[in-house]
Formats: sequence, C-alpha cells, structure tokens
Amino acid sequence: MLQVVDLKLGYKGIPAIQGVSFAVKAGEVVAIVGANGAGKSTLIRGISGLLPAMDGSIVFQGTTISNWPAHRIVGQGIAHVPEGRLTFARMTVEQNLALGAFTVPNKAKQEKLYAEVYDMFPRLAERRQQIAGTLSGGEQQMLAIARGLMSDPRLILLDEPSLGLAPKLVSQIFGLIATIKQHGKTILLVEQNVHEALELADRAYVLQTGRMVTEGSGRELLGSELVRKAYLGI
Ligand code: ATP
Repeated sequence: MLQVVDLKLGYKGIPAIQGVSFAVKAGEVVAIVGANGAGKSTLIRGISGLLPAMDGSIVFQGTTISNWPAHRIVGQGIAHVPEGRLTFARMTVEQNLALGAFTVPNKAKQEKLYAEVYDMFPRLAERRQQIAGTLSGGEQQMLAIARGLMSDPRLILLDEPSLGLAPKLVSQIFGLIATIKQHGKTILLVEQNVHEALELADRAYVLQTGRMVTEGSGRELLGSELVRKAYLGI
C-alpha cells in the first residue's frame, strides 16, 4: 500500500531522515520505533506532506505522492494523527470530529463515519457534546485518533499516541489501535514505547538517528539483541 524509498527529509537543508526505505502492506500495523530525536515525527510529517522531501520517493497505492500538498494527501486516503493530542480545546467532541471530515463532502457518508467512529469509541459517543478541553488525557488522544478516522482513510499515521499517558491508559490506547485494525484500517505507528508497539505490530522497523537499523516482525524484534539492549533495558 505504501512504499517509501530512500527518503531524505530535513530542516533548512540539514537532513534528519537520511535515506530510509520501508513498506506498509494493506491491513498491517507497522511500527517504527526509536528514541527521542531519532526522526520519527519528521518521517510521519514527510509522508503526510507537512515537510517536503529532499530526496527519494513515497508511493501510495501506486501513485507517487512525494511533495504533494497535505490536503491532497488526505484526499488520497492518508490521515495523520499528530503527536500531542492536538484537539480543538474549545470545541465539542462532535465539532472536532466534523473538522476531521472536511474532505468527505457527502452528508450520508459523513453520517456513516460518525456511526462507525462512535461504535469504535463509545466513550466519545457518550461525550459528544462535551468541550474537548475538558476531556481526560486518554479521551483527548481517543478524540485525536477518531478525528483522523473521520476522513475515511485507508492508511492512518499515528505519531506517538501513547506519549504522556499513564500506563493503564497506554494499554487502553494500544487496545484501541487493535480495534481500528479489526475495522480494516492499515496503520503506521511511530512510538517510543517500544515494548507495547512491538507487541501490537505485525512488522516493525527501528529508527536510529535518521536511519533504519533493523526490521522484522514485532515478535522477532522483541527477541532481538539490539532491541532488548537499547530499548527494553534487558
Ligand atoms: P521525539 O519523540 O522527541 O519527537 P522524534 O523521533 O520524533 O523524537 P523528530 O522530532 O523527528 O524526532 O526530530 C528529529 C531531528 O530533527 C532532531 O534532531 C530534531 O532536533 C530535528 N528537528 C525536528 N523538528 C525540527 C525543526 N522544526 N527545525 C529544525 N530541526 C528540527
């Protein structure tokens, strides 16, 4: 579904992603794990069109989307859920969801999406008239993900969905990601929470200072010497 080849991204000519290649197949959960500053957010921003590619290519469902504007990439079926649960704090849950559906002009289709999202996130259904800023941290992360789903993406990019959440909420969020997969979505996840991400992922890559250093199934990487030493403290 997604092929990234030799992608180079950076800021003011200084590369932060130094030519990485990876792929995501339809229906998979793929995790890219790495430490602080490895370049995870940069990579996600590059795919969603928020940062121009310095080199390399991004092909989504057979179409080269490198350097397309972000709104066109959303229209093509890729949703980006940014780091930091960026919801519109003064708007209600439902208004936040409506903003996620801006690329879906058809009213009936929008209604179907609300129903699907509320079915996946019953907590948000109960709170649809609540002001987003008054939701708990975990609920705000749910809302950020749900808003991404309102564009009816085929591929959803999740930037550190577990960041800053208490351990119990972290497992809840990973549980939700599994639910989204069951609903037929393809997921590319970047995470610092290496253990949980590898347990969930079908396949995963390890990013270190802008380069992919290893890849494998989630299970393989959980058992790998490099991952155990560098990220799991074992
Ligand atoms: P974190 O989890 O801390 O966000 P990350 O793996 O997502 O880490 P990035 O945010 O992608 O890492 O940062 C990768 C590198 O790019 C870092 O060296 C960072 O300082 C640099 N960088 C990120 N954003 C900018 C920016 N707007 N301008 C200049 N350099 C940046």
